[in-house]
Amino acid sequence: MTTTDNLHAFIADLPKAELHVHHVGSASPRIVSELAARHPDSKVPTDPEALVDYFTFTDFAHFIDVYLSVVDLIRTPEDVRLLTYEVARDLARQQVRYAELTITPFSSTRRGIDERAFMEAIEDARKAAESEFGTVLRWCFDIPGEAGLEAAEETTRLATDDRLRPEGLVSFGLGGPEIGVPRPQFKPYFDRAIAAGLHSVPHAGETTGPETVWDALTHLRAERIGHGTNSFQDPALLTHLAEHRIPLEVCPTSNIATRAVRTLDEHPIKAFVEAGIVVTINSDDPPMFGTDLNSEYAVAARLLNLDERGLAELAKNAVDVSFLDEPGKARIKDEIDTYTTTWLAP
Ligand SMILES: [Zn+2]
Repeated sequence: MTTTDNLHAFIADLPKAELHVHHVGSASPRIVSELAARHPDSKVPTDPEALVDYFTFTDFAHFIDVYLSVVDLIRTPEDVRLLTYEVARDLARQQVRYAELTITPFSSTRRGIDERAFMEAIEDARKAAESEFGTVLRWCFDIPGEAGLEAAEETTRLATDDRLRPEGLVSFGLGGPEIGVPRPQFKPYFDRAIAAGLHSVPHAGETTGPETVWDALTHLRAERIGHGTNSFQDPALLTHLAEHRIPLEVCPTSNIATRAVRTLDEHPIKAFVEAGIVVTINSDDPPMFGTDLNSEYAVAARLLNLDERGLAELAKNAVDVSFLDEPGKARIKDEIDTYTTTWLAP
């Protein structure tokens, strides 16, 4: 009989891959306090204890305020490097071996950070993280949908210009609000990114219905869907996602925090698994939603009634549908198998 405590201990050391996590949204109170100390004129507290209160959101509007105040702390290439490197440290602590980090370069270049220095900062952090923590990072550059076509053009340029495009870039995304931001208008930008060899991974169906997921598939040629939560409303869509093996990047706690879903028990994750869809577990903006990847695996274990073997399969799903090369995938999956076998040995 597996106890909940046992399962949590198993998850804590289970090698994992994280496919849906945002760069600025991963700034923990520890990282924010370091950044705030570098910029004393900011209104963000520097004391980690005060920061825990600061990160307690009263509602979604408050979350956006806090998020933007953290964006305001990223002012220099050195801030970008520090944030990226420290986020990797937090991932490594959770035994994350591979992560695709969603970065919104437009937020930084618009604020005047030199584009070349920005790319060098993230690449420098990526290389340091890999050699020091053993965590492999790759980038997804995403269009902040609310900033419109100007942001789409700028993000596409940064992602496809050979003189700028960072080595670690593997995919192209679309984030921000869905309501009032129709997906089809971004088709020309995704076409260019795909032609440049990038994978398409837009957010869709988080706060709007299944038609947005269809749009992401048809117009943006999505290979994975960020969230896809409301896909459950359309049985034909569930069948399509299963048959074409289009994985969903599920972030349960984020969906509660943003009120996309009312309670965890009402989360459609089980319906996705029962429909035969490849499901991956992710954390989105973990410190801002009071979670981390390990907690999300614990949530999944409860909602899907998984034991250690089931959790290991879930972890391997994420590795399988990641954009890591095949030898890299095989290495992490072997590690997951060895860890699980050893854990379950009598
Ligand atoms: Zn997201």
